[in-house]
Amino acid sequence: MKNLFLLLLFQILWVACSDNQQWKVAQQLKPLDSIKDKVLEGDWLTEHNESSIAFNTYQDQHPITGDTLRKYLYLAKIGSFDTAATAIADITCAYLKAFFLIDVKVSQVFSLRQIPATNIRSNGQLDAAYILDSLLFPALPADALSMIALTAEDLYPGNNWNYVFGLASLQKRVGVWSIARFISARGKPVSFEKALCRTLHVASHETAHMFGITHCKTYECNMNGSNSLPELDRQVPWLCHECLAKLCWNRNTKVKDHLQSMQAFYQKYLPDHIALQYYESALAMLSE
Ligand SMILES: [Zn+2]
Ligand SMILES: [Zn+2]
Repeated sequence: MKNLFLLLLFQILWVACSDNQQWKVAQQLKPLDSIKDKVLEGDWLTEHNESSIAFNTYQDQHPITGDTLRKYLYLAKIGSFDTAATAIADITCAYLKAFFLIDVKVSQVFSLRQIPATNIRSNGQLDAAYILDSLLFPALPADALSMIALTAEDLYPGNNWNYVFGLASLQKRVGVWSIARFISARGKPVSFEKALCRTLHVASHETAHMFGITHCKTYECNMNGSNSLPELDRQVPWLCHECLAKLCWNRNTKVKDHLQSMQAFYQKYLPDHIALQYYESALAMLSE
């Protein structure tokens, strides 16, 4: 009995130490983070009075985490995708894999015919709430930690809204995001790289919400809230050291592994992006 107690105590201490270890590693990256002090009129923080959640508080909230049963992130598509949109979806799959160090499975393609006419506006916008509750949730596989869907159609979340970039349900572990407004502005197409970067940013931000990571208002960070495309375009795609510590704790991964996989992603897909310089600098700062 005494041995069992000592074993349990050792396990508790080991888990606590490993939590603190990645927190300490992430602290080494603090000099790379910029304090978020530039807030423009109309930005997220001018309209939303949120408070930052500390690392310890995040742990105490028992957010959704993976386990031996629920271990895959599913990426589904809704409607048709042209060549550029298909490439964006494929690269988003690789990005989420690198960012969350999770196995991503490309899921089924849902047809627009699976959405009732009453949930499609005359301008073609799809009802995001219907998609979450009646399309994705019933199709959630048993081994899914969560399922996100991309669509090239525009979305609306309710009758009083013009549009929404995306919508997610933490309880149901499903989310849907549209790339319609990322790939064209007022009918004019934007560059492939810009559309891709916007999609990667929002997909990682929203998926991190599913892991219970809330908005960050202290540092320039992927988890900054965003009210508009211009605000989104000003934000950095990487996580600040505090949000990164939360992610690594949740995923039970090492800071270094996240940085290395993100460095490899940018080397392969976006070698001229400033994020590659960030990840290279971050890796150079780690002392182990
Ligand atoms: Zn958000
Ligand atoms: Zn942050």
